[in-house]
Amino acid sequence: MENAHPSNSNLLLGQTMSFTDDPFHAGPESSVTHHRRGAVLLRDGMIADIGPADTLRAAYPGAPVTDYGAGLISAGLIDAHAHYPQTAMIASWGKRLIDWLNSYTFPEEMRFADPEVATETAARYLDLTRANGTTTIASFCTIHPTSVEALFAAAQMRGQRLVAGKTCMDRNAPVDLRDTAQSAYDDSKALLERWHGVGRLSYAITPRFSPTSSPAQLSALGSLWAEHPDCLMQTHLSEQTDEIAWVHELFPEARDYLDTYEMHGLLGPGGLYGHAIHLTPRERDRLREVDAGLIHCPTPNTFIGSGLFDMAGLMAEGQRIGLATDTGGGSSFSMLRTMAAAYEIGQLRGAALHPAQLLWLATVGSSRALRMDDRIGNLAPGMEADLVVLDLASTPAIAQRSARAGDIWEAIFPTIMMGDDRAVQAVWMNGTLAASG
Ligand SMILES: [Zn+2]
Repeated sequence: MENAHPSNSNLLLGQTMSFTDDPFHAGPESSVTHHRRGAVLLRDGMIADIGPADTLRAAYPGAPVTDYGAGLISAGLIDAHAHYPQTAMIASWGKRLIDWLNSYTFPEEMRFADPEVATETAARYLDLTRANGTTTIASFCTIHPTSVEALFAAAQMRGQRLVAGKTCMDRNAPVDLRDTAQSAYDDSKALLERWHGVGRLSYAITPRFSPTSSPAQLSALGSLWAEHPDCLMQTHLSEQTDEIAWVHELFPEARDYLDTYEMHGLLGPGGLYGHAIHLTPRERDRLREVDAGLIHCPTPNTFIGSGLFDMAGLMAEGQRIGLATDTGGGSSFSMLRTMAAAYEIGQLRGAALHPAQLLWLATVGSSRALRMDDRIGNLAPGMEADLVVLDLASTPAIAQRSARAGDIWEAIFPTIMMGDDRAVQAVWMNGTLAASG
């Protein structure tokens, strides 16, 4: 049928790829629909139709056409764990987790008491991630409410979907970066009431991690989550063995690291647990039982020397897993580089991830972890129109390799392994062209 709102419609042509199933369980070949010459119709900020180009051109003759040629049209990439205040200190040398926090992170996060620093960094961070094809982010902020205001305001201006929250810390951090149990509750509640559910913005209750929150603060945030169960809760879990030993010292009564959250009301289905590398059998069982989200952050696995996430084992037992950069403990803003690192971590654990699995993790997998898979993460009618168009021949090195590809996966894999922001041909956000390379 001819569309009724031609000015709000756009027909994008290119190779299209959408997921019909989970490639970890259904197998890569039977979980994807790929059109070599496909089309996606965007209307009023949503994906209205998808199919072969000829069919859609005939069905919607009035829609303006943008032809991306052999470019691959995918759902926009979703970064399920990041720290936007660490934008300017990414790639800081030579430390492991606790020293890295004290030497680099905390001094940088102190700067966000200044609203100008927060506003400028938020805009720069969203520019950098958008240039890399990322359309949704779940980010930690700093303890300063202004750092949250700045990021939400910047995302709202761009029509961008965003999850964010005030990072809460009331111990084991510099005095200027500490709140209290009560102020963490009050500030988080005020921010939540102001921003959660406004347009495409969602609030996440955000204790940094157990070592920097007192039991009283964890309990206060657990109460807030119980009062607002539709919010996500994001934190860190079992990244480094030194960190885990410290958690045992700080919480002698806890059965394990996860229990420090569980005993304070901070374990639930909307919980996002970043890293989750060194898990005990009990932790794995509990995470699966409550259907919590595990967020794989592969670049800091190696960059901060933390260890190797057990993707194959965790997937096989049915965990809900998303993918993330963890900027700036992660070493890249790019979800392509992050997929490459996930592949490398998989190889070091003896399990080579298929390109379909890597792309699924960065789209559907992350949207499932964020409990937003009914809205984002896939090309399908009724989904929000967040898309990335990838040039699969963006550099001479990639082009000469993909020219030899025997199938679509061989054509995509060099871009996953060697691609960067030059591979991002265009980004559509909320049905509007947001960037073109
Ligand atoms: Zn993190």
